[in-house]
Amino acid sequence: AKASGRNTYSFFTDEMNTIMQRRFQLEEQMHGALERNEFEVYYQPQYTVLNQEIIGAEALLRWNNNSLGNITPDEFIPIAEHTGLIVPIGRYVIKQALTFLNQWQKQNALNYSISVNLSPRQFRDPGLVNFIKSTLKETHIAASCLNLEITEGVLMSGQSYIYQAISKLKKLGVKLAMDDFGTGYSSLNYLRQYPFDELKIDRSFIQGISENKPDCDLVKATIAMSHSLGLTVVAEGVETNEQLTLLQDMGCNVCQGYLLNRPLTIQQLLKLPK
Ligand code: C2E
Ligand code: CA
Ligand code: CA
Ligand code: CA
Repeated sequence: AKASGRNTYSFFTDEMNTIMQRRFQLEEQMHGALERNEFEVYYQPQYTVLNQEIIGAEALLRWNNNSLGNITPDEFIPIAEHTGLIVPIGRYVIKQALTFLNQWQKQNALNYSISVNLSPRQFRDPGLVNFIKSTLKETHIAASCLNLEITEGVLMSGQSYIYQAISKLKKLGVKLAMDDFGTGYSSLNYLRQYPFDELKIDRSFIQGISENKPDCDLVKATIAMSHSLGLTVVAEGVETNEQLTLLQDMGCNVCQGYLLNRPLTIQQLLKLPK
């Protein structure tokens, strides 16, 4: 028993070592990645559920590093968050997204919007609101065309500076979306406390709606509740026509997902039919 205990122990440290090494490499490479221009913002189009017209896009960050290759946001965002590097990286995303939106609106429609994900650490940046304000001005984008997506993680600490930043952003006129709705612990409570404009139903619920009665009922009820609260409902991760048809029947407003389009480069997005 002792021997196996020791084996388990050494296996554990090896595994820990690998994880720590990878983490260390990512962190090391992330410093300077902005300067080396390794980040690129992709855009996943968002469509009206009713007739699949484009109304905007969600900005999704990509990182390509010389030695590590492509790293997914699920791996690098938590590290950027932990090190604080998400602050300059997040500002870069906002600047890129609004600069692109200016070009896209001119080409297609002035009411197109762009959604940007904000993570908890970004709210500890005392300059966040002013940065957004001045970048909107610089890029000539109406505040109402910027949609900030936040998850429960942002609200969980209950810190007053978060509430204050959100109030200031609302006063500016930007839109606020609750992301990954349904995956947290007290989403309903946050809906009551914060001035959201939009609710994004998590992909894990959308996945089940055509096969799973409970998932279907939950999504239906979420849409009804959102509408009675005056919220726009976005379904994320729509992958099949069956899902789209069901969402149409349920009166969902906006959808995004591989069925309609993957996250695209600016060049690809500008080539899409209007
Ligand atoms: P999220 O905000 O929930 O973004 C949706 C994720 O689902 C994206 O993954 C998107 O590419 C993926 N997706 C979209 N449609 C489908 C579909 O039909 N099927 C499937 N299986 N997946 C779909 P991605 O781009 O890998 O991003 C992962 C997460 O990383 C995001 O989740 C978001 O939390 C975070 N993230 C990405 N970019 C940023 C950023 O600029 N700032 C911050 N703070 N977080 C970001
Ligand atoms: Ca999102
Ligand atoms: Ca989401
Ligand atoms: Ca997510």
